Amino acid sequence: MESGTAQESDTAVNGASVNGGDADQIDVLNPATGAKIGSIAVDSPQRVAETVARVRANQAEWEALGIAGRYRWLGKLRDWLLDNSERIADTMQAETGKVRGDTSLELIYLTDLINFYGGKAAKFIGDEKVRPHSPLMASKKLLVQHRPYPVVGVISPWNFPLALALGDAIPALQAGAAVVVKPSEFTPLGLRDVIGAWKNEIGGPDVFDCVMGTGEAGGALIDAVDFIQFTGSDRTGRKVMARAADTLTPVSLELGGKDPMIVLSDADLDRAANAATWGSMYNSGQVCLSVERIYVEEPVYDEFVAKLVKGVGSLRQGADGRKPEKEVGAMTSPNQKAVVEDHVRDALANGARALTGGKPVDGPGDYFEPTVLVDVDHSMKVMRDETFGPVVSVMKVRDSEQALQLANDTRYGLAGSVFGEKGRAEGVARRIEAGAVNVNDVIVNYAAMDVPMGGWKESGIGFRHGEYGIKKYCRPESIIVTRFGGKREPAWYPYNRSRRSLVDRAARAVIARDWRRRLGLRAR
Ligand code: NAD
Repeated sequence: MESGTAQESDTAVNGASVNGGDADQIDVLNPATGAKIGSIAVDSPQRVAETVARVRANQAEWEALGIAGRYRWLGKLRDWLLDNSERIADTMQAETGKVRGDTSLELIYLTDLINFYGGKAAKFIGDEKVRPHSPLMASKKLLVQHRPYPVVGVISPWNFPLALALGDAIPALQAGAAVVVKPSEFTPLGLRDVIGAWKNEIGGPDVFDCVMGTGEAGGALIDAVDFIQFTGSDRTGRKVMARAADTLTPVSLELGGKDPMIVLSDADLDRAANAATWGSMYNSGQVCLSVERIYVEEPVYDEFVAKLVKGVGSLRQGADGRKPEKEVGAMTSPNQKAVVEDHVRDALANGARALTGGKPVDGPGDYFEPTVLVDVDHSMKVMRDETFGPVVSVMKVRDSEQALQLANDTRYGLAGSVFGEKGRAEGVARRIEAGAVNVNDVIVNYAAMDVPMGGWKESGIGFRHGEYGIKKYCRPESIIVTRFGGKREPAWYPYNRSRRSLVDRAARAVIARDWRRRLGLRAR
């Protein structure tokens, strides 16, 4: 069974029809109430191509601004985001059904990210002078410049509508690319607002825009741009990669996860249980890095589960306003709620027990109770496939070896976490097969933007953050400058015996690692 989120990915079923609009128009609903809060006009493939062509025409000028010049503009975007945080949070809350407390991390992340890449871009993508590796190249000066792909397309999901859409656009813009984003059809309003502000309030150069629609608009974007940064389900990720193959367009794919958490017997159980509670229920579990599976060493299993059930069971669920009064919000996509119900039903039917939660909440709005499952095993969907909802499952293990074996028994490899004595936990963390592992913390690797974040196995291709997160938007261009060399190089025409032998002797003297061969003598 594939990641459930992907079940809505076909253009025929997601977006327009899911949200009750028609083909040219998509209605946006508030998942906490079911009320219509706005609508967007869908961009035709032709309109997508025109948008890309327009920003492409302005990209050279943007690139010519240089790293500092581009950071000046992105700094204005940072300031606008900070100045309009309440307005942004209001829209985000309305289109996702998040609680207020879940909205704030997106803006903190984005504004920090602008500063991070603005400050580090010169180090990460500035010209590199390289010393020739061999005396044979002594006459050359070597340098590498990193030139951006002219237009980067960003396709993003609904769970963090700004952090993912803007978060992947920011390093691309800082690298000198023009960027066109296609946000999720479920949550397009916040991004549309930010792009509107870039154009009209900030007055930014016309190199940053968005297109609206479902998979059809996403496909048209892939056809028109020079690099695709995709975040979403692995099912759609495969389609994106296949489509990009037609134009040999490089892709970076940030896909789903089924992140394990391991609790060792020497863990601080209060910290571990608090982390598991937040890490599994944050954003109603609709986080690619959510804690979905927990493996606990036998001696501390009962105590840990009791603390986790107490934590999860006491969370306040529902819609709040500007004042943070709830912890767990709505499920943003109705299709995702159906996946969560299916996983929990399958687990309960096969012997699992829900120690708290376990069922959908009666309307209005799309809610599923914060749920802790035990007596689960790896034959169940809830332990194999991405649930992406407020559900966490716990298994008792003999020791850390069994925990590792189960943690790695998955087609995903996005991230994980280990709780225990620092040294021991780090040793276990190093053996988890995933792009990032947090020791005595959860999800925090996303904010540690100094280091790469991305998926192993079917969780993705490529990484964001760190040096890689901006370099991937660039193509290295090596410049080889001849400092001296006369009228012709020894390897050029005309070929004759004396010139040939000069080349061979020079190469041999440099490459051979023993005196006999250096001098061209036969081996004994
Ligand atoms: P999705 O794959 O259904 O959709 C993602 C985006 O792709 C949307 O904008 C959608 O319109 C677009 N799309 C759909 N079909 C397309 C096609 N054929 N061609 C081009 N674009 C197409 O994902 P979702 O349900 O919006 O998001 C949830 C998924 O995203 C989960 O699997 C989650 O784990 C993953 N995710 C991953 C990360 C990460 O960093 N690894 C972060 C957040 C979410």
